[in-house]
Amino acid sequence: MQIKQAIFDESCHINPQALVQGQRPWAAILSCADARVAPEWIFGLGSGELFQVRVAGNSAFNDGIASLEYAVAVLETPLIVVVGHSGCGAVKAAMGKEPLTPLLEDLVQPIRESLRSGDDLTQAIQGNAQYAARQITQRSNLIAEAKDSGKVRIIPVYFDLNSGLISKL
Ligand SMILES: [Zn+2]
Repeated sequence: MQIKQAIFDESCHINPQALVQGQRPWAAILSCADARVAPEWIFGLGSGELFQVRVAGNSAFNDGIASLEYAVAVLETPLIVVVGHSGCGAVKAAMGKEPLTPLLEDLVQPIRESLRSGDDLTQAIQGNAQYAARQITQRSNLIAEAKDSGKVRIIPVYFDLNSGLISKL
């Protein structure tokens, strides 16, 4: 309850009327579904500022890439940030041997593709965020062209829950 109160006190400062006109997010985020990595909270932002795609393990799935295409082409969002975070359960699951449901197997497949032999969990999480960032342009001509022409930048980052620091990868 205390956490909820703190978040609302800090982020509910935007006049709702300002949002009715439409969205003009200055960044699009591809992040994990993890409750601890809510983008507005970690970047200290409010409603209307970030276009978000969230899925456990922050992989670049077709639906997510299509959503990012909308952000780049229609909303003219100039920045895509892929956020990997410490202690990511989806990356842990991808590295582990525990049996998963068929749907979870699908979910961890791109994470497994990103793993390099000898990776520890942190290296795997960081490598996965970099892999997801590359997948966006490899699978979307629209975003690849926007990147080449300088209309959008794509930056993978690592959010460390222990220190609260976000570092570029
Ligand atoms: Zn995660």
